[in-house]
Amino acid sequence: MTTKARTRRATENGTRFDAVVVGAGFAGMYMLHRLRGLGFTARVFEAGSGVGGTWYWNRYPGARCDVESMQYSFSFSEELDQEWIWSEKYSPQPEILAYANHIADRFDLRRDIVFDTRVTKATFDEAGKRWHIETDRGDKVSARFCIMAVGCLSAPNRPRFEGIDDFKGPIYHTGEWPHEGVDFTGLRVGVIGTGSSAIQSIPIIAKQASQLTVFQRTATWSVPAWNERLSPDYLKQVKAHYPELRAKARARPTGFYFPFNIKPALEASAEERDKQYEESWARGGLPFLGAFGDLLFEKEANDTIADFARRKIRGIVKDPAVAELLCPENVFGCKRLCVDTGYFETYNLPHVKLVDVSRTGIERFSAGGIVVDGVQYPVDAIVSATGFAAMTGSYDKITIAGRSGLTLAEKWRVGPRTYLGLASAGFPNLFMITGPGSPSVLASMIQAIEQHVDWLVDCFGHMRDIGASTIEARVEDEDAWVEHVNEVSKVSLRSTCSSWYVGSNTPGRPRVFMPYIGGFPIYVQKCNEVMSSGFDGFVLEGATKTNKPPQVRLTERWRAPLDIEVMSPAAVAAGRVPVV
Ligand code: FAD
Ligand code: NAP
Repeated sequence: MTTKARTRRATENGTRFDAVVVGAGFAGMYMLHRLRGLGFTARVFEAGSGVGGTWYWNRYPGARCDVESMQYSFSFSEELDQEWIWSEKYSPQPEILAYANHIADRFDLRRDIVFDTRVTKATFDEAGKRWHIETDRGDKVSARFCIMAVGCLSAPNRPRFEGIDDFKGPIYHTGEWPHEGVDFTGLRVGVIGTGSSAIQSIPIIAKQASQLTVFQRTATWSVPAWNERLSPDYLKQVKAHYPELRAKARARPTGFYFPFNIKPALEASAEERDKQYEESWARGGLPFLGAFGDLLFEKEANDTIADFARRKIRGIVKDPAVAELLCPENVFGCKRLCVDTGYFETYNLPHVKLVDVSRTGIERFSAGGIVVDGVQYPVDAIVSATGFAAMTGSYDKITIAGRSGLTLAEKWRVGPRTYLGLASAGFPNLFMITGPGSPSVLASMIQAIEQHVDWLVDCFGHMRDIGASTIEARVEDEDAWVEHVNEVSKVSLRSTCSSWYVGSNTPGRPRVFMPYIGGFPIYVQKCNEVMSSGFDGFVLEGATKTNKPPQVRLTERWRAPLDIEVMSPAAVAAGRVPVV
């Protein structure tokens, strides 16, 4: 739900660009910046009224990053790193959105971005070797390259609950929060879901609402953020060594740096384990999963961290029955681990109620509430914290027709098929930033975005150098990559539960583990090898100078040695790279 009216403007008809980019989140913005560096003409279409993507749409109370701000930011400009001041360890949404706007202004990006405009169709013209792009505002433009920067978590999942239209109050989705905010003071509020968006918003909504009822289908694992303001001294200290921190981050399995204990939990005594878990809990956040090296590979090891976290929940939540309901039964960290501020404590408040819908589901909405198992829970407003059709949802909404008219949606009916999460066979000159099959959501995403964009720019530069007209993933290499992504996922306990990683949070999608879990630097190495070999796995057409080796323009900074402290050669060979 956005409240801004769409700006009036003339439609663009027939304009030819070197590249069209879909989406103006961090990915679309950085892509545009780098395309300009190549001297390309480019147009970005963005459905929202402003830049920032995730941080433009997700304005729910409590929204903030879960990768520390000093690392959840662009690394391509040292000046930018030095000039921007993050106020908190995990900065809140308004500040991240302000950062996105700063990027747009500092790099003068807005003049090539068209807002309030959704791309509806992209069709490849085989004869002209161009993409024809259409929008919901009637624009019809063409481009040699079409780059999807549509985001992994940008298509809200809105379950069609029975009776949904009967409900008389407002329903807010966390991923489309009203710009003017929502005042819940004195209202009875129902929150559906207990994923990251819910656990961030629940403690704050509870402060306003007269009654808060949380409808939980699956209990969530959550670790305290211990968020804090960043002192000038701390900022100075980090900024003095920012390039080293960025380099260390790039060599880490998740693309961000934190102390990691590679020792297996199963080789530690019970006392050692508890000591380590206490220390890691005191540090908080996603790094908690780095307490030991085998937590996402050995169920027995995982049980030890799960037991510890359950003890914490039982220690916080006073009502034993509520505490038991809040204790997850699935693998710790199987779904994306949540990072909270006072989530479990909220259930000690007398006006907060937890309703278990794990067995029955939500029966229906009524005019004045939500019905579960025949019981009506009266609510005045509903917050749908039900997540996203992750990884592929925003692609599904665009009719993308490649060679012979085959659409991407048809091709992906069995699950997304890509080469390196960058391209898909049958769709020449069409690229994805953080597409399925790349580390994407299992890495600090801004780093994943930068690595993809830098690789693409070097690819486009090479095509220009050799006079190639199209580049397209080869089917056999794509098949082998899809197989590899699938194989590696089986090594991790993460593939064992029904999460959005496997698409099973929304009905009708095939169960496929979509992101690449083999480790960010391993993946980067593969991308670099593909480039060094002259784009092995891709077919380049129309080249006049085929003997020219690719010139590395931007990807140099990604040619980092693997951090063998956390990735031994044996672990890499076995696909057991610890991705938290
Ligand atoms: P997005 O930010 O999703 O931007 C995509 C843009 O494309 C959107 O603005 C959308 O409107 C536009 N778009 C989509 N389809 C079309 C179309 N057809 N036509 C026109 N425009 C279109 N990641 C982390 O690494 N760390 C975090 O702490 C973190 N926190 C998060 C918190 C929340 C609440 C959510 C939802 C995600 C979080 N993520 C986090 C993931 C986050 O999505 C990425 O970090 C990053 O912001 C993605 O940037 P992007 O540009 O790839 O995609
Ligand atoms: P999510 O993790 O998918 O959580 C959605 C919640 O809604 C789950 O609890 C789910 O239950 C529930 N749900 C969905 N459909 C339902 C239905 N029909 N009936 C009842 N319950 C239903 O979505 P999210 O919380 O928006 O987070 C998505 C991702 O965005 C995160 O994993 C993270 O990567 C990112 N994010 C990050 C932050 C951050 O801390 N920086 C904050 C928000 C989001 P089930 O578990 O049973 O499916």
